[in-house]
This record gives sequence, structure tokens and C-alpha cells, in this order.
Amino acid sequence: MESAENLLQEVLKEFDEVAEYMNLDAGLSSILKEPKRCLTVSCPVKIDDGSIKVFTGFRVQHSLTRGPAKGGIRYHPDVTLDEIKALAMLMTWKCAVVGVPFGGAKGGIVCEPAKMSSGEMEKLTRRYITEIIPIIGPEKDILAPDVNTNPQVMSWIMDTFSMDVGYSVPGVVTGKPICIGGSAGRDVATARGVMFTIFNVAKKLAFDPLSKEFAIQGFGNVGGNLAHLLFQEGCKITAISDIEGGIYNPKGLDPVKVSFALKETGSVIGFKDADRITNEELLTLTCDVLVPAALENQITQDNADGIRAKLIVEAANGPTTSAADKILEEKGVFIVPDILANAGGVSVSYFEWVQGLQFHFWNEREVNLKLRDIMEKAFENVYRIAREKDVSMRKAALILAIERVVEATKVRGIYP
Ligand code: NAD
Repeated sequence: MESAENLLQEVLKEFDEVAEYMNLDAGLSSILKEPKRCLTVSCPVKIDDGSIKVFTGFRVQHSLTRGPAKGGIRYHPDVTLDEIKALAMLMTWKCAVVGVPFGGAKGGIVCEPAKMSSGEMEKLTRRYITEIIPIIGPEKDILAPDVNTNPQVMSWIMDTFSMDVGYSVPGVVTGKPICIGGSAGRDVATARGVMFTIFNVAKKLAFDPLSKEFAIQGFGNVGGNLAHLLFQEGCKITAISDIEGGIYNPKGLDPVKVSFALKETGSVIGFKDADRITNEELLTLTCDVLVPAALENQITQDNADGIRAKLIVEAANGPTTSAADKILEEKGVFIVPDILANAGGVSVSYFEWVQGLQFHFWNEREVNLKLRDIMEKAFENVYRIAREKDVSMRKAALILAIERVVEATKVRGIYP
């Protein structure tokens, strides 16, 4: 895999290309390329054997122009400040593409959750939040789940912030359990948004998703839930993978059974009624729709030529490098970019924030209908720009996002 530093280079390169295409003012361009604020914190934690371990955490706010910053928290050994900067910038574009009134942020802690006890995770989370409290809050920066963080972690975040101010503040974090102010439907919202996107493409390009074969890389919150949702709709999933490797069955995989195997053995490769494949092989399998739903920089110039899917829907953030993107474009692959495809998560996070501020909650049907509307509208807008300007969906999504952030920047003016 290419290094995490490369994601920042990729994101900036993409921005530069689109800024040049849009003839964007150099001053505005330099504002948008830099994060508004980066905070690095060190978090000492007394671990279970009684020793002290110091973890490094980051919180980056890329933009606060269209509203409070918004973005997830990632726990992973490879987290770097540059990776978090890149992901924060992507969040700014994502919020703008779907039109929710947020700027972009991201956070991360360098740690190995698989090797930590629940107690250690809780202490680390609480210490990290305490360190970043000055810059977060419902009106400043709202946190959310990302790789290796879940509703339990969000609960600790909400509790730590609330203890500090002395009253319950559900709006500081989204992706919480419903019993403390979470939203119905948030747990599967990113995956549901990806599914709506697949159906939006199908409508536009006039194909039947039920007659297509799907390969999904990653079986966590996004990939796992997507597999379940697509299966429930009658779609055929032929390949699934996680960090340990992949499984393939041309007759189709039942995600419910794969989930059982994951629970019992710790990996999807514990599922027996399928052939074992590598993650690399999954990407180049014969299939119609490829959904990268794991980490960044998975589709590179080394494997792009071998990709056989005609449609790639980027459920993960930054899964395709720009070199791979060019190869795929030449091959005529239709790519729905991350900032559009996986925006369902932040859209329902916005719904959760709105519900939390009002202490008035909607049912799951209402949430899902609103999500479908927001994803459909964003897809239509991006598709129209792609057609009108004869550019890729990725470029069109970025044009729309940058236009919206620039409009807000101009109307607010440059302080002082
Ligand atoms: P997760 O931790 O729940 O799941 C990640 C999955 O990817 C796991 O199955 C893991 O085993 C697998 N994985 C990890 N490294 C891998 C590798 N090198 N090769 C193959 N598989 C690997 O994380 P998630 O929340 O599902 O996030 C997945 C992606 O979606 C990330 O890029 C994340 O930024 C993005 N995303 C998540 C959300 C959300 O709401 N959770 C929203 C938008 C985007």
C-alpha cells in the first residue's frame, strides 16, 4: 500500500487540478488548501499491566466556513497528521456536496485497538477528548465514528464532554446509541447512502442492479452493512474481504452467514462455503460493481489496469490514487467518488445533530426518506455538472463542493 502521506498529496493534487480548471483565485485557493487548525495531543494512559503508555492523537479542522466542523475519529496504528489533514479536507468537500451546513474535520489516535482491552480504550478515549475539549463542541466541531471506532466510543466521548461542562451535550458527537440521543438509522447510514448511490447510478445508466455481481472490500461498519442491505434488496455479492483476506463464491455469498463466521473466527475468511482470495485478487475479480469499503490507496497504478468492474463506488475515503483514476477513466470505468458515495454517514450525522439540538427525534422511516432525498439530489447535481462540463464524476463533485465553499468564503469576507 502507498504511504499515508500520499493521501494528502493525492487530495491536494486533485484540488489543484480542479482549482486550475475553475480558474480559482490564487488567494482563495491557498485558503482552501490549508487546514484552519491542527491539534496534536499526547495522551498518557495507565494500561492494564500497570505501566504507562503515551499515545499520540490528532484533531484537524479543515474548514469552519459553512458551519461547525464535522468529522470522524479513527483509531489505527498507521494514523499520521498528514492522513488526518487529508481526511479533514475530504470532509469539507463531502459536507458541501450534500449541502449540510458543516465544515470538515477529522481526528485520529495512533493505537492498535485489536491489542487493547475495553478499559484501555475507554481511558484513552476519555483522555484524548479531555485534551481536545477546547476546540470541540456542538457549535465548534462535532465528532463521529470512523475506522475502529463505534457507538460505544461515541458514548464515552459524549460522557467525557458532558462531565466537563456539567450537563448532557448530545450534540458534541454523532453515531451515539439511541438511548443517549443517537438517531435512528445512523448505524447503517453510510452503507445505506452507498446503496442509494448504486441505485441512482443504475437508474441513470439504465441497468438492473439485481442482475449485477458485487465485490466488496472491507466488512466493517460500511462494507458489512452494505453487503447486508444489498443482499436484502436481492443483489448478488460474489466477493467480500477484511484485513485478513477475502472469500469468493460465483453463486453468491450470504452476508448473514459470513457475519456468523466473522463472529466465530474473527475474520470473514472463516466462512467455509467459498474460495479463499487475497484482497488484491478481490479488486481484479470478474464482477460488475466494485465497492472499496476499507482504507485509502487500495486502487493504485499497479492494479488499476487489472480491474474488470465497470462501476466503482467509493465507500471508503480516498481508495483510488489519482494515477489509478486516470487509468480507470481511460478504460471507461464509471467511478462515483467518495465525497458523494459515502456522504450518507455525514448526512444522517447532520440529522442526529439537528435532533439532538431540538431534543426531538424522528423515526427510522423519516430518517431513511430524508437520506434518500439528500443522496438523490446530490447525485443529480454532480451528474448534471459532469454532463454539462464533460468531466468525470470525481471532478464534478469537487467543482460543486469548491463552488459552495468559495461562495460562503466570499460572502463572509476575509476577517478582519
Ligand atoms: P471499520 O473499522 O468498521 O471497518 C473496516 C473494514 O476494513 C474491516 O472489515 C477491516 O478488517 C477492513 N480492513 C482494514 N484494513 C484492510 C486492508 N488493508 N485490506 C482490506 N480490508 C481491510 O471501518 P468503517 O467505518 O467501515 O470505514 C471504512 C471506510 O469507510 C474508511 O475509509 C472510512 O473512512 C470510510 N467511511 C466510514 C464512515 C462511517 O460512518 N463509518 C463514513 C464515511 C466513510
